Amino acid sequence: MPFQKEKIQEENFERLRREMVHSQLERRNITDQRVLEVMRKVPRHKFVPERMRGEAYDDHPLPIGKGQTISQPYMVAIMTELLGLRGEERVLEIGTGSGYQLAILAELAREAFSVERFGPLADQARARLRELGYRNFEIRAGDGTLGWPERAPFDGIIVTAGSPDVPAPLVEQLSEGGRLVIPVGEERHQELYRLTREGGKTRKEFFGGCVFVPLVGEHGWEVG
Ligand code: SAH
Repeated sequence: MPFQKEKIQEENFERLRREMVHSQLERRNITDQRVLEVMRKVPRHKFVPERMRGEAYDDHPLPIGKGQTISQPYMVAIMTELLGLRGEERVLEIGTGSGYQLAILAELAREAFSVERFGPLADQARARLRELGYRNFEIRAGDGTLGWPERAPFDGIIVTAGSPDVPAPLVEQLSEGGRLVIPVGEERHQELYRLTREGGKTRKEFFGGCVFVPLVGEHGWEVG
């Protein structure tokens, strides 16, 4: 009875997801109820390679191919919380990877856009989100350090790879009051920042250390 087996598996994953939200997110002071709610809902195990599904709700990042990773659940939660989404925003993600973070954004914003450097990862993520029923998103393959000028301005931009500096085009593509959440620093260790565009200025806040794969592109690290 394959159907029955699948149903039991899905129930198991749902239980793991609730535990993940409680022990990894609520206990570490993620308080945005909308973020907690969607992370209880989005099936993270469908964004990791089949053989790693059992680890999908564990407290660490996982490899997704091409030397890239799906971020730790807590990192997804805190970066999303920092965007302060209410439901009407247009948001941009740089570094689609598995598409998991993008699914979270598509749940919480009106429209979600994402740029991925590797074509095959972009195609896979697009197919995955469509299959899960998302329609308010768009993915493009290319250099995300240039942003997505044709779709700008954005109320929120989230960069899910580590950058040596803040890419200027991303700041330029923020709307008034728009927020950019980005890890900036060395190749193997970064600091998480939130930049808010206010008038002609940008306000900068710091949120602790983190580790991301490198952002490779014109305004990021050189291809190596
Ligand atoms: N947000 C993803 C995790 C991303 S890992 C998720 O939820 O699964 C970082 C991703 O950034 C990788 O897929 C990598 O290929 C991509 N990347 C690195 N440099 C990039 C650039 N300049 N433009 C777009 N994507 C980039």
